[in-house]
Amino acid sequence: MAGEPIISLRRVTKTYGNGAMAFQALKGVDLDVREGDFVAVMGPSGSGKSTAMNILGCLDVPTSGSFRFKGVPVETLDRDQRALLRRRYLGFVFQGFNLLARTDALENVELPLLYRGEERARRREAGMAALEKVGLGKWWDHTPAELSGGQQQRVAIARAIVTNPDVLLADEPTGNLDSKTSVEIMELLTELNEKSGITVLMVTHEPDMAAYARTIVHFRDGLIESIEQNEHRTGVTA
Ligand code: ADP
Repeated sequence: MAGEPIISLRRVTKTYGNGAMAFQALKGVDLDVREGDFVAVMGPSGSGKSTAMNILGCLDVPTSGSFRFKGVPVETLDRDQRALLRRRYLGFVFQGFNLLARTDALENVELPLLYRGEERARRREAGMAALEKVGLGKWWDHTPAELSGGQQQRVAIARAIVTNPDVLLADEPTGNLDSKTSVEIMELLTELNEKSGITVLMVTHEPDMAAYARTIVHFRDGLIESIEQNEHRTGVTA
């Protein structure tokens, strides 16, 4: 799915602290992500991956340089405008699932719609559709404690896609899962990418998981060291 970049970083830097304590976590990052791409972000600990993901997720802004999302320069938006952009266009999946404990799967998935002020009936309908999409339709009334790790991550993915986001940001989504379950989660992300056209940005330490991506970006010392086009994606038959 070729197209205009949905995300464009130009000479992005990020400095934490100031004066003698200043630390430059990003030193001038250029990156274009096309709509429909599946990008794996790799690199050693401390290389700037989380800093870059926080900027891409509109949770933080660059110290200098520009970040355009759908052509909009995000660094010119205030905090509230960035929150709106996040809610409208982005979905987040974390290593630790981050589900509400005493709340069933459907209510967890409905949460982003509640924040948006959607009506109950509409929330239920969209929540069930998202759970069906991740293969958990029958599990809607189970709480996280009644679900396996893989199922909990599916619920978290359903919660991330219930708003029909353009981009899914996933921070080590298989970090807490065994290898068989990791494969199932990666197959689900691949299916969402291939069938729903959702753009996926995923941080991972595991080459086996990065192998599902179309594009593999390697960070080192606050810079992108290389960008690799993965011609032989795992889980995708030509
Ligand atoms: P990665 O995700 O690749 O492990 P990070 O983006 O978390 O790397 O961190 C890059 C560098 O920036 C690290 O040296 C880290 O210590 C530093 N860093 C990250 N967040 C902060 C912060 N809030 N304040 C100061 N330094 C930070």
